[in-house]
Amino acid sequence: MYNLKHVLVLFSMMLFISTPPSGRTGELKNYQCTKCGTLMQSASKPSSLGCRAGGSHHWNELGAVGNENYQCTKCKLHVESHDKPSSIGCAEGGSHYWNDLGRIGTDTYQCQKCGLTIRSASKPSSIGCNTGSHQWNKLN
Ligand SMILES: [Zn+2]
Ligand SMILES: [Zn+2]
Ligand SMILES: [Zn+2]
Repeated sequence: MYNLKHVLVLFSMMLFISTPPSGRTGELKNYQCTKCGTLMQSASKPSSLGCRAGGSHHWNELGAVGNENYQCTKCKLHVESHDKPSSIGCAEGGSHYWNDLGRIGTDTYQCQKCGLTIRSASKPSSIGCNTGSHQWNKLN
């Protein structure tokens, strides 16, 4: 017979084993190609092969992936970021102008005007749509 203490020890061991051996080195970062605009999450700089704009991708690191939704009000790029992303490399020229749309959550919202779809904990900020304000619909 297992007593409660044994069960708890077993349970915490299972938790420990199922936790991926991430460490700081495996931390995902947001990368965007300044030429073709492709955004991807990667632990290291992605391959430069096959840019749609011709030649090699030119990856710009925007910072660590995290639990906050940010959108640039100029180029409309949306990233899930730990902190305010790097301002370098806005497709509209100059610096990105990041707006915090709110914390990432389990609900999915889509703007019926610009089509942006994000996962959010609550109704996202309405700032930064193509024309005027985002009009969010909760999809689930
Ligand atoms: Zn590219
Ligand atoms: Zn931008
Ligand atoms: Zn919108």
